[in-house]
Amino acid sequence: KEDAVKLRKTYKGNVTGSDSTLPIGSFEDLISRFQFNGKLLDNLITNGFTEPTPIQCEAIPATLLNKDILACAPTGSGKTLAFLIPLLQQVIDASRTTTHNEKADKGQKNVTNGLKALIISPTKDLANQIYEECIKLSSRIVLNHNSDNVEQQRHLQVSILSKSLASKLKQSGSSNNKNRKPIDILITTPLRLIDMIKEENALDLSEVKHLIFDEADKLFDKTFLEQTDHILAHCTSSFLQKSMFSATIPSNVEEIASTVMSSDMCRIIIGHKE
Ligand code: ADP
Ligand code: MG
Repeated sequence: KEDAVKLRKTYKGNVTGSDSTLPIGSFEDLISRFQFNGKLLDNLITNGFTEPTPIQCEAIPATLLNKDILACAPTGSGKTLAFLIPLLQQVIDASRTTTHNEKADKGQKNVTNGLKALIISPTKDLANQIYEECIKLSSRIVLNHNSDNVEQQRHLQVSILSKSLASKLKQSGSSNNKNRKPIDILITTPLRLIDMIKEENALDLSEVKHLIFDEADKLFDKTFLEQTDHILAHCTSSFLQKSMFSATIPSNVEEIASTVMSSDMCRIIIGHKE
């Protein structure tokens, strides 16, 4: 605990609403604290990510404790990995839990091919960058999943909702079509996603457990707010974890966060809010 206070001083970290969450000091800390996946750690090191940045020190453990997250840290401080690393671990965890009771406790059904996580970005360029980082980190990661009551293994699937994927999804008809290629994590701009939601059965969001808003200051600004609300309304799982990441948190975002997020949300500010 004292170490945590010291660590936070070094990066001017202000963390509230989550007393039980201590920051990590290294990626290796994740192994003992969260049974972190070995391949995921390998992928971090292989790509040159050896030490977590301050926002990663704070946001990774808080996310793994299933808190809603409102995070603010400067541009270039590593926010993308701050949400991708715990998300990948959570998707792996969900596939690892095999007993029926454990799953019932967490509100999980047997792992299916349904979409588990959505990352919303205000622009296509940013969505592409997130996709590239996510592909690097998910290399060689395998999930257990259950198909017709048979345990099977397949690679974790990350997709970006491109024009071509959108038209494929529309053509392949029912979203519970078994021949469809599974998607675990989908990265998208708001408009593309809403276009899919409108199309009946093109995309089922009812199993989405993690909803991440990157550059939340833009997504909750006037131009996007209606679309963002629409997306929130369609993620109907009662176990939905919400995260917002941004370089600034204007007061309107703070206000919306307090209405949308769970009451024990973790609020992380690295440096200044504006
Ligand atoms: P932000 O979203 O906060 O503006 P990014 O997530 O785009 O920042 O990260 C900025 C750069 O820092 C990227 O090139 C990314 O690969 C790099 N980076 C992120 N985390 C680490 C880390 N732990 N170690 C080294 N480089 C990192
Ligand atoms: Mg960013």
